[in-house]
Amino acid sequence: MIVLVVNCGSSSVKYELFDTTTEKSLASGAADRVGVNGGTQAILQHRPASGTAFETQRSMKDHETAMELILEALCHPEHGVISSLNEIQAVGHRVVHGGEKFAASMLIDEYVIAGVEEVAELAPLHNPANLVGIRACMHALPGVSQVAVFDTAFHQTIERRAYLYGLPYEMYEKHGMRRYGFHGTSHRYVSLVAGRLLTEAGVPADEQCIITVHLGNGCSMSAVKGGKSVDTTMGLTPLEGLLMGTRCGDLDPAIVPMLHDKFGMTPAEADAMLNKECGLLGVSGVSSDMRDLLVAAEEGNERAAAAIELFCYRVKKYIGAYSAALGGLHAVVFTAGIGENSSPIRAKCVENMAYLGINIDEDSNNTVTSQPDGVDISRPETSVRVYVIPTDEELLIARDTASLVSGD
Ligand code: ADP
Repeated sequence: MIVLVVNCGSSSVKYELFDTTTEKSLASGAADRVGVNGGTQAILQHRPASGTAFETQRSMKDHETAMELILEALCHPEHGVISSLNEIQAVGHRVVHGGEKFAASMLIDEYVIAGVEEVAELAPLHNPANLVGIRACMHALPGVSQVAVFDTAFHQTIERRAYLYGLPYEMYEKHGMRRYGFHGTSHRYVSLVAGRLLTEAGVPADEQCIITVHLGNGCSMSAVKGGKSVDTTMGLTPLEGLLMGTRCGDLDPAIVPMLHDKFGMTPAEADAMLNKECGLLGVSGVSSDMRDLLVAAEEGNERAAAAIELFCYRVKKYIGAYSAALGGLHAVVFTAGIGENSSPIRAKCVENMAYLGINIDEDSNNTVTSQPDGVDISRPETSVRVYVIPTDEELLIARDTASLVSGD
């Protein structure tokens, strides 16, 4: 089945076209600066899987215009990969927040649209943009089935003891203030790959205890038992948990009113600071990009070194916490930009953890190259496997879409 995967943000539309029969990507790309200053400086980058990529500056006043240009690029006589739009059989959308309503991917109908609207107050920047993308596709591809794949859905199996905050209960009951977790599609994807490897190694699927560590610009971890998420580091919003590129992660909540009392910050200013000026960037004062920090720390920059230490220490602390939550541990999985590419960060995150059965092989860690089926970098004699597995959220969205549309 030919499936278009769409990830629509407030001023961008990312896309990837798949043939789900072969699981091959046919093309991918992104429209950026959509609707910004009337969309006059918007750019479309289109990358066919084979053939040359192209970039074009075209006016995109709204997401509907962006969608039309994307579809035009997919059918373009030179750069296109399909001959007509009729070849697109379904569209899968990344939707950030599904609240407690959606514990799995859903075929989009009026009920689903109303549900996504209803939980928009929990993700005011993302869900409305996702809905704009859904409507733009309905307009551009009338009659083509669409599916919503939620970032939160995988974590809906988390039990009350892990999702409640210590707030008055009405905050949860009446206002939905609980931990939801994000990056669910990535945690689900890599835990599926790791689960296959563990099954081959003789660990029964329903007993598998896996910790997935997604380290990109946004970072989160998940404890996965028998294929189900039992805990995750992000909470009501993607601000909680690990240190990230620009987000602070776990924080004493008393700091928030202090930002107002001491510095006169408004709630919006505090929110912007905690999301955009903290994390690796805030601690190091150098960059939010791990590559820059590794170079700066090597050159003797102490604050870059402190940011890296804090980043890795939190991952290690959560590995300890999650092995306790799982009641055992078979595998730790590193994924996303930092997790897949940075051997020094992986090594530091699991340093001195042999007591828990985690001990990586230095050579394997340093020489690992990305393999879709994952690579084991642990010493053979250890009880916990450490895998590097490239995440592929778009492929999982395409798979879910094909399976829901074909009724499998
Ligand atoms: P996003 O969350 O935006 O999808 P990515 O998963 O692409 O982000 O991850 C981006 C992060 O990965 C950046 O901090 C970048 O520095 C880091 N990264 C990419 N390659 C390397 C590398 N070789 N070594 C260290 N960090 C890397």
